[in-house]
Amino acid sequence: MPQHSELLGLCLQQLTDVTDRFGEPPYRARQLFDGLYRQRWSQLEQFSPLPADFRRRLHEAGYSVGLPRSEARFLSEDGTVRYLLAFADGQSVETVWMPEGDGGEAGDGSASGDEELESKTWSRATICVSSQVGCAVDCKFCMTALLGLLRNLTAGEILGQILAVMQDQQVDLERDRLNLVFMGQGEPFLNYDNFMQAVRLLVDGVGFTESRMTVSTSGIVPRIADFAAEAVRPKLAVSLNAANEALRTQIMPITKKWTIEKLIASLRNFPLRNRERLTFEYVLLNGVNDEAVHAREVAELIRGLRAKINLIALNSGPDIPFSTPAADRVLAFQRILRDAGIPAFIRRPRGRDIYAACGQLKHTTELVGL
Ligand code: SF4
Repeated sequence: MPQHSELLGLCLQQLTDVTDRFGEPPYRARQLFDGLYRQRWSQLEQFSPLPADFRRRLHEAGYSVGLPRSEARFLSEDGTVRYLLAFADGQSVETVWMPEGDGGEAGDGSASGDEELESKTWSRATICVSSQVGCAVDCKFCMTALLGLLRNLTAGEILGQILAVMQDQQVDLERDRLNLVFMGQGEPFLNYDNFMQAVRLLVDGVGFTESRMTVSTSGIVPRIADFAAEAVRPKLAVSLNAANEALRTQIMPITKKWTIEKLIASLRNFPLRNRERLTFEYVLLNGVNDEAVHAREVAELIRGLRAKINLIALNSGPDIPFSTPAADRVLAFQRILRDAGIPAFIRRPRGRDIYAACGQLKHTTELVGL
């Protein structure tokens, strides 16, 4: 029997394998599934439909639910919370809660812009989820890249971040509007199978709809093709950041492996659902990729795609060799895209003061925990 085994992240078939091993009937696996995902119980003792003896035997064999532990939380003045969540082996990632959040995807772009946060109470929110501990992709504007890749997260660890934050924020899925963006630490498409298992459990188990989820990729072309073929999938966002090969290679070295041409070709074949649009994210780096010529290149590159573009003025951080463009440069960039007929939105930075904003997730703990 295993020393430590987490149940969270197992699908119904895998839970049936567990109940089989204990000589329990298959309907016990369904009860485990409902307890883990529908009820979102965090302790084995809470699984009241299971006989106490079975719960005890699971516990003695080293099984637990496996919800990540909150090691620290940092609260931003805009209401954003950055969680440091730790797993059984002591590794941790960051997960960000954005109340009233437009932290990557509001669906129609209507929540984008520079509007002030009106209230600390929330009726909708976004959770930004990590997929790996660190990241191997090495985007030059991103603090996570400085960690390198430490390991992939399991499906349970990806899903567990969401459940832990929902528990802490007392989210009621019936009442609250919650969006999920897989845009935290890591490249989800380099941990594809675990990421997709988490997505399926979120839909089949927890009850999320796929249209409330968005995954962002740096452009892992073969996985975009796999993703296109999935029956259930979140919306797709692509981190573009430059429309010419030389510049993109400079700030996103992964372009050497999967060129812009291959990336755009994979997107031209991507089957969009009704009213669905692709999202391109573009981090503006002062004096590097934010000139008028770059905006025109972007417009040219994505012409003909059903897409919108989210502009993010760099969220600066220690050891990042770029600076944040002034607001007028960001607006000028947006204007060129809009004049070319491309829906372009300026994303409001969230939690910059606590290093929770895009590209800032790097276990920065030199802030006061709450
Ligand atoms: S931006 Fe995303 S893909 Fe690029 S290094 Fe950071 S976490 Fe990895």
